[in-house]
Order: sequence, then structure tokens, then C-alpha cells
Amino acid sequence: MRTTNASHRNWSGSVRWTPAEVLLPTSEDEVLAALHRARRTGRTVRVVGGGHSFSALVATDGMLLSLDSYQGLVRADTGTGLVTLRGGTRLWEIADLLAPHDLALAVMGDIDRQSIAGAIQTGTHGTGARFTGFAGMVRALRLALPDGSVVDTSPVQDPDLFEAARLGLGTLGVILEVTLACVPAYRLDLVESTQDLESTVGAFLADSSIADHHEFFWFPRTDRATVRTSRRVPQDTPRRRAPRPVEFLQSEVLGNGAWDLMCRGAAVAPRLSRPAAELASRLFAGPRVVDDSASVFTAPRRVRFQETEWAIPAARFAEAFTALRARFEDEGVEVTFPLEVRRVAADDVWMSTAYGRDTVYIAAHRHHREEAGPYLLMVQRTVESFGARPHWGKQHWLGASELSALYPRFEDFRAVRALADPDGVLMTPYLHHLLG
Ligand SMILES: Cc1cc2nc3c(=O)[nH]c(=O)nc-3n(C[C@H](O)[C@H](O)[C@H](O)COP(=O)(O)OP(=O)(O)OC[C@H]3O[C@@H](n4cnc5c(N)ncnc54)[C@H](O)[C@@H]3O)c2cc1C
Repeated sequence: MRTTNASHRNWSGSVRWTPAEVLLPTSEDEVLAALHRARRTGRTVRVVGGGHSFSALVATDGMLLSLDSYQGLVRADTGTGLVTLRGGTRLWEIADLLAPHDLALAVMGDIDRQSIAGAIQTGTHGTGARFTGFAGMVRALRLALPDGSVVDTSPVQDPDLFEAARLGLGTLGVILEVTLACVPAYRLDLVESTQDLESTVGAFLADSSIADHHEFFWFPRTDRATVRTSRRVPQDTPRRRAPRPVEFLQSEVLGNGAWDLMCRGAAVAPRLSRPAAELASRLFAGPRVVDDSASVFTAPRRVRFQETEWAIPAARFAEAFTALRARFEDEGVEVTFPLEVRRVAADDVWMSTAYGRDTVYIAAHRHHREEAGPYLLMVQRTVESFGARPHWGKQHWLGASELSALYPRFEDFRAVRALADPDGVLMTPYLHHLLG
């Protein structure tokens, strides 16, 4: 087990911290030894995955545990689709691990840099009205509890612990293994287009109910939306990609390089923001692609940003979006990053942002060189009155009193958490603020 005590930051640079020590266990026994050592030294423990959360979930001055040396496939069953992965496995590795078994993840978000345990612990999701987020795909968990015991949990084995730990913000135990319901491998046929905003918003619930995966981006105060719609097609459908120079231009130059330059320019001279957003809203749509699901769902995100994201009951989406639009006009908002709007099926994961309701997510971003707080807070204040729940891994300013009103199983979660970690070994001031 390697140890270091370097200082850390999350992907966006919004949270920085220096743990007393960082441990990289390579086996289950070494995870248990790390927990034993924390008990002996009286240190609190946080587990880090890919460090891609925008909120301060991982920050600690105690022991930081990274499962980067505890990755890989434990087993896969092509017949049932059940796949067990070690907690530290990164999402980008999963497609290759599952390919020999003709399986794939049912859906993915925008990037693949996260660990599987980190993705489920914050309710990471993609888009698709028939699909849940990652936590909804979990069928069993193997956990190391702070007292040093190892438990296997599932809907029939310690079900309360399972329900709480499926999305537990890393406060129930260290996730050693995750068993996911996967699906036969498939390709996606992706079409992107630039559309009129009014009609895109008006048709969003209907369009996203029909399409397999449907979402749109909107640069604030422009009149158009970039719409992305993907159809699931058989794995043997011929690949189709734009010629390499066109892909390079779209993804690396327009999608990352030139866009970053434009955002940096606007950070120094804010009056450039509106023309930049206008231009980007016309160029954002890329060429049609047919390829393996993982490579179509995800793309590199090299332009760093801060983000807030809100889960809104689908029936209230149009009202919430209209309120945001009006607010941006009133405030004369000038930003170079789009809102992203996605749809996800209801699930039954206690702390899931989609618990018990068909959900539309609205995410707002701001370039990392700009001051993000006031804009992201404005978004929060505008959508709060629509019953919106904040993404656990993104920035927001809610605490336990507001969150408990948004989650019917909040108290159940707290009770199970207290049994699993009676001494608060996995807690920090930020987590006390969230969970009470
Ligand atoms: C560029 C970018 C794009 C993104 N796109 C999306 C998107 O499309 N959809 C979406 O929903 N979110 C998205 N996110 C948010 C991201 O998916 C979540 O914040 C996710 O939790 C990050 O995973 P991670 O492995 O980096 O976890 P970390 O941020 O390292 O940790 C997250 C939580 O998981 C816990 N944890 C990690 N490993 C373990 C373990 N083994 N046992 C117990 N607890 C553990 C941590 O303690 C912490 O509470 C994006 C973030 C970025 C930076």
C-alpha cells in the first residue's frame, strides 16, 4: 500500500485540501488495514474516486483513501447481464472490460473519467426517459464498514443498508465491489442539429419520450438550441464517423481549443460573452455519428468549468426553464457556457435526485476563469421553487434542513448511516452540513 500526503484539488479547482495521509490499497485486506489504522490514529476517512465532483464531498484533513490501485472486472454473466466491478474501476475502462462478454453499460453521462463507485455515490446520470442514473443500475454492493467488517448487500441481503449505500456520498462505507445490471452491447446513431429554442423546449417532453436519448444545450439569451438525439442500434451496424480532420476540427478545435480561447477572452472582456455565445450556438452541433455506445455518449471535456445541476419534476420543466430564461434577461446575464437539459426515468434509490419522479435535469456551467458563484446561485434561487433537487456532486448552497424536505427517505438514510458509521469516521463538516 503506497502512502503520500500531497495536497489535492478536484477537477474544476473549486475545492483544495491537504489530507494528513493518502493511502492506495491494492486489495480488500489493505482497505481493511487502512480503516484499522484510521481507528487507531483517530483519523476520519474520505474515499476519492476520480476527483470529478464539484462539491466538497471528498475534501478532508484526515485520511484520504484512493481505490485507483483496486480496479477491474470481478465477474460478468452475459446471460443475466450482471457485472461486478471493483470500486476504483474508471468508467473509460468498462467498455473494454465488457466487450468480450458482449455487454455494455445501459447509459452513460457526458464523460468517462469517473470511478464507478464515485459515479454511483453522487447519482451520476446521462439522458434517456427510459433509463435511470448509475445508482439505479446497482444490484449489489460489497462494502467495508468503518468498524472493519465486510458486508455483501443487495435488495434481499441487508436491504436497508443496500438502499442507503447505493447513493451514499461515501458515508456508509468503502465500496469494494459494485454489481450492475448491464445490457447487450449496442451502438448509437447520434444526430445533432441546431433548432429554434421555443419549439425545442415545447417539444422536449414528447421528443425525449420517443427518442432513446435526447438532450439539448442552450447558450443563455440566444434563440436557438443544439439538440442531440441518439437511437440505439445493433452492435453490428456499420460505424459512421466524419473524416478525421472534420472530427478534429469539431471536437478538439471548436469543442475544446477555440472555445477555451473564446471563454478566456470573455473572462477578461465580458462584453465579448454575448457574441461568443451567439457564435458558439451556431457552431455547436457536430456531424452524424454511428459508433459503440461508450464512445458516443462521452467526449473529452478539456475546457474547465464550474457547474450546478438541478433535478426538476418533468411536469414542471417548461415552467422552470421559462423562469430561468426570464431571469437571465432581467439580470442581463453574460455567459459563454450553455445550459444542458436532460431527462431520466424515476428510480427508487433513497437519496437519488430522481427518487420517485420522472425527472428533467437542468445544468448551468461557467468557465473556471470567471467568478461562478453568483450565476450558479441565481440558477439555484430560480429553480428552487419548482421542487428542484441539487446534483450531489455539483455546486449548490442547500443544507440538511432544505434537503430533508426534498427526500422522503432522508430520515431513513440518516438512521442507516448512523448504524453503519456510529462514530462518524466517514463524516466531515461539509457532510454534517448536508446530512445534519
Ligand atoms: C467534466 C465533468 C463532466 C461531468 N458530467 C456528468 C454527467 O454527464 N452526469 C452527471 O450526473 N454528473 C457528471 N459529472 C459529475 C460527476 O459524475 C460526479 O461528481 C461523480 O461523483 C464523480 O465521480 P468521481 O469518481 O470523480 O468521484 P469523486 O468526486 O472522487 O467522489 C464522489 C463521491 O463518491 C465517493 N466515493 C468515491 N469512491 C468511493 C468508494 N470506493 N467507496 C465509497 N465512496 C466512494 C466519495 O467519497 C464522494 O463522496 C461531471 C463532472 C465533470 C467534472
